[in-house]
Order: sequence, then structure tokens, then C-alpha cells
Amino acid sequence: MKHIYLDNAATTQLDQDVLEKMKPFIRDYYGNPSSIYSFGRESLKAIEQARETVASCFNCRSSEIYFTSCGTESDNWAIKGICSSHRAKGKHIITTNIEHPAVLDTFRYMKKIGYDITLVPVEKNGIVNASDIEKAIRKDTILISVMFANNEIGTIQPIAEIGAIAKKHNIVFHTDAVQAAGAIPIDVKALNIDLMSVSAHKFHGPKGVGALYIKRGIVIDNLLHGGGQERTRRAATENVCGIVGLAEALRLSVENMEKNNAHIKAIRDAVKAGIEAKVPYIIYNGDETNRLVNNINFCFKFIEGEALILLLDMKGICASSGSACASKSLDPSHVLLALGLPHEIAHGSLRLTFGKDSSMNDVDYIVNTVAQTVDRLRQMSPLYESFIKEH
Ligand SMILES: *Cc1c(COP(=O)(O)O)cnc(C)c1O
Repeated sequence: MKHIYLDNAATTQLDQDVLEKMKPFIRDYYGNPSSIYSFGRESLKAIEQARETVASCFNCRSSEIYFTSCGTESDNWAIKGICSSHRAKGKHIITTNIEHPAVLDTFRYMKKIGYDITLVPVEKNGIVNASDIEKAIRKDTILISVMFANNEIGTIQPIAEIGAIAKKHNIVFHTDAVQAAGAIPIDVKALNIDLMSVSAHKFHGPKGVGALYIKRGIVIDNLLHGGGQERTRRAATENVCGIVGLAEALRLSVENMEKNNAHIKAIRDAVKAGIEAKVPYIIYNGDETNRLVNNINFCFKFIEGEALILLLDMKGICASSGSACASKSLDPSHVLLALGLPHEIAHGSLRLTFGKDSSMNDVDYIVNTVAQTVDRLRQMSPLYESFIKEH
């Protein structure tokens, strides 16, 4: 039975080298990093080394890196923490309409408790205009949050421009870089980023550990209150082995970025060209070039993405769709709708996200399987039947 994993935007496999680095901290070095005795100091040392590694990957100080339990926590902390610490200045916050739910849902919650939110729409190519962000700024704006790269369509946002705008207007700028970290170079200083969320399991680290970069001088309230961990800003006994894994996975991803990206892009481009050559009536979602090299997002007219995913699964291919049941909701993906696609088209979406362990040897199988499956679903589709009759 084949097993071809094409869902690296959802999560990635833990790297073997990362696992080896984590192993001593799963059981042997179990000392609490907050303890006084030397045994606990081994754990503390590992955390501080990890912090330095992460800082060097993003060009910041280690004292600006805070470990969290996931990307979702980092996003929640950034948004709720700034809203709370800056409420005397104003109650208006800005984001885009294609953010991950960890940001969008947090914005909706802030609205519920009395903040004003602006969701700036993206262009048809899935990229927001930095000037539209600037136009949305008001006197009482306290936060701009724009994702670095989109998890569904892979588009890369104009982070440097938005960072410069935020700086000019003296507004805190947060970016959800969960998809970007380890995939594209990130220099938080050059980009004027104040807060940045990342998550280990998106770059071959373990699940359940993330980080938030908080620029020195940014005033932000805590999300978790309790003990004095993370320099009193994020309580809870540290996930030592997770933190060690996050840092090692990030280090490897950044070190091998060029090599991995060249490999991933070659496979992605071959699959894209193969499918386009074999399957008619396709829409390719997201900007053609300004996107993560690992991402393809198609809409196949006349079919349901969810049926396609289930049939691909039977052929050993793990893929994803922004449609209906696959995402546990009846509406198609908010990202695809934000591109201006009608509901019935958005329902026929397929996202393939490749990784460093994807193989060129699988390209033909992937292309043929997708083409055959789309064809089979179209043969059963009343929409397709009436379209063919009319043309
Ligand atoms: C996966 C993802 C998250 C959530 O990260 P978790 O660690 O799974 O909580 C947030 N934002 C983006 C863009 C993501 O892709």
C-alpha cells in the first residue's frame, strides 16, 4: 500500500535528527528548570541554548524569544496581550480576511468583548495590498496582524512594507509566521516585526510547542498567569524536550533551506505541470510566483473537493481540501471565498503541500491518480453533464 504524504501545511513528520536531540530530555533529564539543584540546571541550560538557536535564526536577541505550547497560543497571546496592554490608547485592530482561524477567531472574540476590528480584503491573487492596510489605520488603532504566508494557498504577504507602515504610524505589528518559519528567510529586525508566532510541528519539530518573538520594549500583557517562567511572562513548567526539538528543527530547516526548497519546488512544479496537462477546467489559486514553494492549490470545476480527498486517500495519497466536511464545516474555505471564487467552485478545491521528504519518483503516480480521480468524479457529476451538453 502506497503512502504519499502531501499535507505538509497541516503538519510535518518529526525529523529523525530532531528526535535524537530530544531523547535525553524525554526521560533522563527530567529536572525542573526552575529548581536550585544542579540536576535542574541541565534542563535550564538546554532551554537557554534553544532560545539562542531560535534567536539566531530570526536575527533577534534570545531574550526576545518566549516558548509557548503552539502557534495558536502564540497568536492568542500576541493579539489578546496587546489589546489588553494598549486599551487606554485605543480599541481598533486590523488584520486580513485570509488569516488562520487562530488569528481570525481571536479577532472575532476581541470584537465580542468590545474592540473594533477591520478585516482588510486581499486581492484576487491572495495577497493584501500594503496600502489597503495603511488606509484602514485610525487614530485608535493599536495592532496590525498580517500572516507571513498563507496556510491554504501559500501566498506570501508584503511583510516588509506592512512593517514599515506600522512603524511609521507607531502601531504594534504582529505576524503569524507559522507557515513561513523554516521555509523562507526571516529577519525580524529588517522587516520591522514586533511580534511573531511560530510552531515547531510545521517545520519537522514536535507537536505542542511554539514560540512568540516579542521585540524588546513592546508592552504586552500575559496570557497565562502563574509561576515566574519565561522571565515572568509565560507561566507553566517548560516543555523542555519540546523546546529542544523546536530549536533543533528550526536550525536544520534554516540551515538546509535552499537545498530543501530547490528539491521541493522541482517536485511541486512537476506535479502542477502534469496535472495541468491532463486535466481541463482547473483554476489555480493564489499568486503564481509569490508563494511558498511547497504549495499547490487547485479548484477542479464540477466536483467536490471532499470526495476527491476521500478517493485519493484510498490510493494512498494524503491531501487536503478547503471544502465542506474535510474541514468540519459546511461552508467552503474562507480563504478561497476571499479570492472571489463562487461557492460551487471553491468546493472543488485540492491543496497539495510537499516537503523535504517528498520524492520525485512519486510525481507520475500523483499526477495520474489525481487526473483519473477528477475524471471519475466528473463522470458522476450532474454539473459536468449539463456543462458538456451545453458546450
Ligand atoms: C498550523 C497553523 C497555526 C496553528 O499552529 P498550531 O501549533 O497547530 O496551534 C497557526 N497559523 C498558521 C498559519 C498555521 O498554519
